[in-house]
Amino acid sequence: MIRISILGVGLIGGSFARSLKRTATATDSFEITGYGRRRELLDRALELGVIDRGETDLARAVAAADVVVLGVPVGAVAELLRQLRPLLTPEMVITDVGSTKGSVVAAAEEVFGAIPPRFIPGHPIAGTEKSGVEAALDDLFVQRRVILTPVEGSDPHALTTVRQLWQQCGAEVVEMSVRQHDEVLAATSHLPHMLAYTLVDTLSRMEEHDDIFRFAAGGFRDFTRIASSNPRMWHDICLNNRAALLKTLEQFGTELERLQEAIRVGDSDVLLRTFTEAKQARDRYATKESSGDE
Ligand code: NAP
Repeated sequence: MIRISILGVGLIGGSFARSLKRTATATDSFEITGYGRRRELLDRALELGVIDRGETDLARAVAAADVVVLGVPVGAVAELLRQLRPLLTPEMVITDVGSTKGSVVAAAEEVFGAIPPRFIPGHPIAGTEKSGVEAALDDLFVQRRVILTPVEGSDPHALTTVRQLWQQCGAEVVEMSVRQHDEVLAATSHLPHMLAYTLVDTLSRMEEHDDIFRFAAGGFRDFTRIASSNPRMWHDICLNNRAALLKTLEQFGTELERLQEAIRVGDSDVLLRTFTEAKQARDRYATKESSGDE
């Protein structure tokens, strides 16, 4: 029996719990404690069968844990680690699910002096535009990737434990450096969310916005679905992956200006080349990959 303590039982923390419960066997079972600030949310998580025990007291929540999972927004990680510090034992494995990794590692370094060897940062590349425990799914991570970003000095046994838990959820686990993670995700996840949010925000402030949304076709719906994602979570992601996100935004801005200029002067070559190359790249990757929101 592995005792897992999930701090922040929302979409991702709740889905992790559900996935482990779905795949538990007589020899591989889990006792899952949820920690949260609101009793009513924990009661709901209990009612839904997502967790076995709910605690609003952090010390009680982690007291017997083998593995502690931080399921909170990345902006809340540093404060939670500060509170956790006196409660951790050397045997406990810690991991997180945050969408940015440099900031999580920096927070751990600030709180502990150096990231504890048994703290293995992680990020499941799966999600939906919904949030909260009600939206948690027991198959959210099946055939999805989970990125682990161990650092120098990470404990190999802790790494194995975290990897096995994600594999048990049906995920494919890959490792990369913290920096590579933040750069790749800035381009593939954070930038698209910025575009979707800005597009919908811009259109909603246009005078004829009722018509715009009334006549929006499937493509608009597909492209903007992610603008329904949790604003607080994306606020935190922006502020915690600033350098990489700004770099991709700048690059994108340059390309958008190039396209704007091609439209202005009627440059068919640039337009056709841009669309053709983008289509080819998209077709190539879309057939190979399937991924959730993140
Ligand atoms: P969520 O559904 O909103 O869940 C977050 C949970 O954390 C909620 O239960 C929330 O409880 C709790 N929480 C927030 N601040 C807290 C604090 N200071 N102390 C204790 N609990 C706190 O969010 P989520 O989508 O699961 O995201 C959680 C993490 O996963 C984030 O770091 C996000 O970057 C990452 N992630 C998200 C996705 C995705 O697609 N959603 C995908 C991959 C990774 P309250 O209701 O009390 O605030």
